[in-house]
Amino acid sequence: MVCLRCHNEMKKQNVNGVLVDRCLSCKGIWLDKGELDRIVLREGDAKDKVIREARHEKRAEKDILHFVGGCPKCHIPGMQKRRRFGITIDVCGGCGGTFFDKGELDKAVAAKKKESKVVSFIHRFFSAK
Ligand SMILES: [Zn+2]
Ligand SMILES: [Zn+2]
Repeated sequence: MVCLRCHNEMKKQNVNGVLVDRCLSCKGIWLDKGELDRIVLREGDAKDKVIREARHEKRAEKDILHFVGGCPKCHIPGMQKRRRFGITIDVCGGCGGTFFDKGELDKAVAAKKKESKVVSFIHRFFSAK
């Protein structure tokens, strides 16, 4: 996959058992839909499954020779800037993938953890008898 920001090749990297695309040049990170939740919850898959996924994605990318703008994943021009977790991120309206610039993923994970703590607190509060 090609980096949304600097158009360099992104490499697959394992973060908490979740396979993400990371740009070695600008250190940007691409997450597919739902991957942030998986990183936060640490519901990582077994390593062999991650590798299988990587091979599968590699095959799917073979057909795409040039980056033509828009989403680096599904190649539709539907990237949107969104304000979330106190940072501005690029979200694809098509596949729901998200691009994080250097350091932003850490902020998002921290904010998300905080968020889920609040949710579980509220849940406990209301389910208490
Ligand atoms: Zn980049
Ligand atoms: Zn997309």
